[in-house]
Amino acid sequence: MKPAPFDYYAPETLEEALALMSQHGYDAKVLAGGQSLIPTMNFRLSQPAVLVDLNRISTLRYIDADPQNGLHIGAMTRQRTIERSQAVIAYTPLLHDTMPYIAHMQIRNRGTFGGSLAHADPAAELPAVAVALDAKFRVRSLSSEREIAARDFYIALFTTDLAADEILTEIIIPPQPERSGWSIQELSRRHGDYALVGVAVHVVLDAHGTCNQARIVLLSVGEGPVAAEGAVSVLVGEAPSDAVITAAADIASDADIEPMGDIHASAEYRRHLAKTLTRRALAQAFERAQIYP
Ligand code: FAD
Repeated sequence: MKPAPFDYYAPETLEEALALMSQHGYDAKVLAGGQSLIPTMNFRLSQPAVLVDLNRISTLRYIDADPQNGLHIGAMTRQRTIERSQAVIAYTPLLHDTMPYIAHMQIRNRGTFGGSLAHADPAAELPAVAVALDAKFRVRSLSSEREIAARDFYIALFTTDLAADEILTEIIIPPQPERSGWSIQELSRRHGDYALVGVAVHVVLDAHGTCNQARIVLLSVGEGPVAAEGAVSVLVGEAPSDAVITAAADIASDADIEPMGDIHASAEYRRHLAKTLTRRALAQAFERAQIYP
């Protein structure tokens, strides 16, 4: 299939791109890595009249690390660049560990961090990881700039808080506190396929070994990343143990999510996976929090 006809613009600066988005609004879409947008255009599931290609805007490609401010990552940074970044390994190992789960290297060479976050596929890893890391998204239009917490960004299936004239420009990942632990776990039918279910976990222990912060975020079990709030409430204030981890995983899978069945997996199987993967992820995250000061 070929896409429906469209006008193509390749601005050299963010300001030019924002002016085009302001002019064309809902008729326009930005093109990042094209790994999701181009297939949907080829199938005519998406028929933008105008494409605004961000690939010539070099100011949207960077990874800045600073102990006080954490990581600032430009939205057009390629997924493969993040995977190979020493700063990402040092500051946000959860993000580093996630990258190989995304598709295949050829796709990550082209796909961008911002593109995956803005696309808001409920089966994508990066939206769930961004919520687990308590990331913030910097978003610009021609006339304004704002920051949105990742947990508030996802509204519904493939739908975010972005307005038609806005572009996601930067992702901010706060520094991880001492005694942080993390884990990403997922199951897919083949390596590189979208996950049937996945879970990203970030926990923090206090000096006495009690859990004082936890974020458990599941993917492929709802319309977007799903934060397991009930599970978190049984962890916080407790010292990690098999019993506490099992209780949290039970609540995450039985009460915090409402998975749908489809041709890939029944709802019941997704709940089963959510329980097993959450238990594994919590056990690994707490182990890491105890090992890594
Ligand atoms: P594009 O395809 O260019 O854009 C996607 C959407 O986001 C478009 O609507 C676009 O307008 C919008 N957009 C892009 N950038 C911005 C921005 N800065 N501001 C506002 N809106 C923006 N992903 C996974 O997470 N896990 C997988 O397992 C996985 N498997 C894949 C397997 C295959 C075979 C393929 C082709 C893709 C797979 N993907 C997977 C998707 C891949 O990660 C894409 O790269 C990603 O979803 C989209 O990123 P992109 O940069 O290509 O964005």
